[in-house]
Amino acid sequence: MATLLVKNIHTLVTMDTRRTELRDAAIFVRDHVIEQVGATVDLPATADEVLDLRGRHVVLPGLVNTHHHFYQTLTRVIPAAQDCDLFGWLKTLYPIWSRLTAEGVRVSAQMAAAELLLSGCTTSSDHLYLFPNDCTLDDEIIAVRETGLRFHATRGSMSVGESLGGLPPDRLVEREDAILRDSARLVAEHHDPRRYALTRVALAPCSPFSVSCDLMRESAVLARTLTGVRLHTHLAENRADVAYSLAKFGLTPGDYAESVGWVGDDVWHAHCVQLSDDSIAKFGRTGTGVAHCPCSNLRLASGIAPVKKMLCARVPVGLGVDGAASNDASNLLHEARAACLVARVAAEDASAMTAREALELATLGGARVLGRDDIGRLAPGMAADFIAVNLDRPSFAGAQADVVAALILCEANQVDYSFVHGRRVVDQGRLTTVDLPVLVERTNRLSRELVNG
Ligand code: ZN
Repeated sequence: MATLLVKNIHTLVTMDTRRTELRDAAIFVRDHVIEQVGATVDLPATADEVLDLRGRHVVLPGLVNTHHHFYQTLTRVIPAAQDCDLFGWLKTLYPIWSRLTAEGVRVSAQMAAAELLLSGCTTSSDHLYLFPNDCTLDDEIIAVRETGLRFHATRGSMSVGESLGGLPPDRLVEREDAILRDSARLVAEHHDPRRYALTRVALAPCSPFSVSCDLMRESAVLARTLTGVRLHTHLAENRADVAYSLAKFGLTPGDYAESVGWVGDDVWHAHCVQLSDDSIAKFGRTGTGVAHCPCSNLRLASGIAPVKKMLCARVPVGLGVDGAASNDASNLLHEARAACLVARVAAEDASAMTAREALELATLGGARVLGRDDIGRLAPGMAADFIAVNLDRPSFAGAQADVVAALILCEANQVDYSFVHGRRVVDQGRLTTVDLPVLVERTNRLSRELVNG
């Protein structure tokens, strides 16, 4: 049994039920689970591994990212797509993405995981919904495992191409029987429903405008025959998405989701920028979750999601950086800051979301959206997933009055330490699990090959 002691923490943000913040604190971990949290003087004095933070760091639960498309790391800031809204952006990029390879999936997944880990994320989901050439979800799962990130892979899919009235080109869609067969196989091979799991698999038909109602229904039926397998998709992302839903199905996105069995506490939807008040109430009643992606919604001019209304209606809400090509960043600390700022401007009320509420969305909120009771909070019995930010950096100078709010209101951007499952994956601001310069070089090479065809 290996033990870990992190001591002399300036401020420890526990996110426990009383939202306790401790000064001069420590965390004691046995294997991958937190055993004790408290004042440094009250905890064991030593352990197999000791990290003395010398009173200069804020420590908080590792952040949780609930929506992403790792593969898009290869296609950021493509000039022709830089200034497009959602449908134009997708139609510009689909032909480039049709050249994606298994090597591209592996390298982009590690690059996205690296960026997330460096920005405080310790658990992420990813939505991979196109499998051209030799691409598989297995490639992504195995590649992410090497980075140390706790990972919720989702088996995405597209089955309705242009010839059937969908948005994607026909060559990028799959047969629905093959999608369902592969979904069951991936769950059997990779999904771990147990507490402290490092890998889970969810089922994730891409969006109303790229899959059929049948595939939505059958994916839900399949997921619910399996243990702890959740459902994820895009919903009500912008006004054009709502118009498509009304024209094609005669239903608002929220009613469409309900009609195919996609409400419930095992479902989370990305974006929901244009979710109606009725649907917000429905999501609240059923515990249907939302991945709030403020930067992508701003970047594509989709709008500002009504997060305050959702929280008032008890909708579970987590944060997502969304695809690396629609953000174009994968920085979860930055996303939490954006969530705080857009909530304020949407309500024209500077108290609409506090810095601590933004941190809560990024930790507890994300854990709930992903259906986890073992992350998002620092307390005995929780997974040892936590991050530390050094207060001596220039962006915190003069910000000693409230070092917790400073994480959001001053731009933190990167963490100094990150532990996932008790393993130190970021040490003094550097990743311990991957060779970052080599990874960046490989990403750039593959990006050039993909974009230039
Ligand atoms: Zn997305």
